[in-house]
Amino acid sequence: MEKTSTLREILHKASNILIVVHTHPDGDALGSGAAMLIYLRERMGKKADLLLPDSAPEYLGFIAEGVGITDAAVEPQRALELIDGADLIIIQDLNQLHRTEQLAAPLSESKAAKVLIDHHMFPDAGQFSLIFSEPERSSTCELLYYILKDIEGGSISGIPARSLYALMAGMTTDTNNFANSVFPSTFTMASELIAAGVDRDYLLQKIYFSYRENRVRLMGYMQNEGLTILPEGAAYMILTKEIQDRFDLREGESEGLVNVPLAIGNVKISVLLKEADDHFRVSLRSKKGTSAQRCAMKFFNGGGHENAAGGKLFPEKDLGGMKLEDYVKQALLDALK
Ligand code: 5GP
Ligand code: MN
Repeated sequence: MEKTSTLREILHKASNILIVVHTHPDGDALGSGAAMLIYLRERMGKKADLLLPDSAPEYLGFIAEGVGITDAAVEPQRALELIDGADLIIIQDLNQLHRTEQLAAPLSESKAAKVLIDHHMFPDAGQFSLIFSEPERSSTCELLYYILKDIEGGSISGIPARSLYALMAGMTTDTNNFANSVFPSTFTMASELIAAGVDRDYLLQKIYFSYRENRVRLMGYMQNEGLTILPEGAAYMILTKEIQDRFDLREGESEGLVNVPLAIGNVKISVLLKEADDHFRVSLRSKKGTSAQRCAMKFFNGGGHENAAGGKLFPEKDLGGMKLEDYVKQALLDALK
């Protein structure tokens, strides 16, 4: 409560506000970013911008459709100008500035006041003058929902409908439609949003029932030829560039795939490696009692949440002469210990 009144004051005083989210923005990053942006512009009449370190997946475009945001991968110069011009920077859905990659240095150098709104463990406290860091939240969208409600004095009737819709979208994707990291407050939020008129059916249509055919076919392929199961209780998939090209895969279209092997009774942890230029992007999911987060930190230069984590693997540097698959197996067996 005290922190939200501090935030309210900071927002009122600021005249040029920049919101920044993590690289490879997901639904929670884009949803929380768009929700805050729309709130600041429409409810508070502020000059505000949302900056993405790189492009959001096409299929999430509906969240911020027509809102006018900046993609640093497309407009690197404008990105730097926005950072330079801001007197307040709000960082959302990440705990460490390096998760904004090429923007981390200019953000760190900026003299603007910085506020963090996030739900990951281990925030980089030194970088921020005000921190909302609540790992016991399903998503940054959920945390932001309660912050905005608080700023509004306990009622959501003044929050623009597009903001509420974006918050519901990001909470839905980050919980994988209420499957992971759900708390009583998550259902309360959903209930209040539906009562306020947010069209959840339309949102589900956009997120889960609008795939391109190739995406479903790729999922089938990866669950057959692409899946290795270790009898100890782990599974991995390696999505090479060759396979991505063969299925004409676009950014974000492998989302959700890593969850599928957890449907198998004895599989406690699942990892998906997706080949990029000089590295693999790594996604990990685990069941209660097995730590995806620890595995991501120890073996894949990453982190995240206890049961949903991610990172990167640089074969040249990280494998120490091991074969890729052997490295992955060793990481998974370590996680099962
Ligand atoms: P995903 O598998 O959906 O890409 O990521 C799952 C979660 O892992 C994210 O919500 C985020 O918390 C975390 N994560 C993903 N990639 C990275 C990374 O490169 N570094 C860190 N520290 N966390 C990551
Ligand atoms: Mn998140």
